Amino acid sequence: MIVVRSIKKMQALSRKLASEGKKIGLVPTMGFLHEGHLSLIKRAAKHSDAVITTIFVNPTQFGPNEDLNKYPRDEKGDLRKIKQAGGDIVFIPKATDIYPGDFQTYVAVEGITKTLEGAHRPTHFRGVTTIVAKLFNTTRPDVAVFGLKDYQQAMVLKQMARDLDYPIKIIVAPTVREKDGLAMSSRNKYFNPEQRKQAVCLYKALQRARTLVKNHRMTKTTVLSRAMGQIIRTICRTAEIDYIAFTDFESLRPVKKVKKNCICSLAIRLFGVRLIDNMKMM
Ligand code: AMP
Repeated sequence: MIVVRSIKKMQALSRKLASEGKKIGLVPTMGFLHEGHLSLIKRAAKHSDAVITTIFVNPTQFGPNEDLNKYPRDEKGDLRKIKQAGGDIVFIPKATDIYPGDFQTYVAVEGITKTLEGAHRPTHFRGVTTIVAKLFNTTRPDVAVFGLKDYQQAMVLKQMARDLDYPIKIIVAPTVREKDGLAMSSRNKYFNPEQRKQAVCLYKALQRARTLVKNHRMTKTTVLSRAMGQIIRTICRTAEIDYIAFTDFESLRPVKKVKKNCICSLAIRLFGVRLIDNMKMM
């Protein structure tokens, strides 16, 4: 496995791979890898000849009061896991190379970044699209794999790839969960064992909504949201709900009644940690 730390070297390596006719797969991450990330690497390997995993805790996607400085890191462990998962190349750029002092160009998707996460984290998606555009330019992938766990992010990046004519196939891979259903996340590490137990409330609430839709034909999203709120507060008394939203999967427009292709997304603060999750309702 090759570890590359310089942008120039990464560009040269991607060009060389392309000139040899190799298909490149890209998996961007912020490190502290878990099985969810590794599933993306394995998926990318099925669609390419060389998988580039990137590790970069991207400062521009964090808001001023978010967890940039305490975001967990474990480069050694990450390299071991990537190797085991079948990764070929790991790109670990420095923040000062990605954003030099005179950096002043950003990529911003409009419309669909204004709702859900974007409404609560106003500069977040601009940071995401800027870093992913830069990674696309540096690694020139044929395929890039993102997780459905960050559903809106995946849709925003698909939109960016379409709008900016990146010739890249974007694959969105399913969410990998812990045994109790909690979506794997690097941020789960922040919880102590008791808090971690309560963090299952996001999954339980989504599951409850889906059960109400499937088994009880309950489709009114106001009623479903209320039922979800109850579950969340029963499991974690101090949980703060940022939003529970039912939207059309493609357009991200809110829906009043659940129908085909409707996804429920939610963001919750638990013990100072902000978690997101989502589930298709039908
Ligand atoms: P992150 O390191 O959190 O920025 O995530 C890097 C990539 O891994 C993104 O495409 C995420 O959507 C994806 N990802 C994070 N958690 C999971 C999970 N539990 N299952 C599948 N993919 C995930």
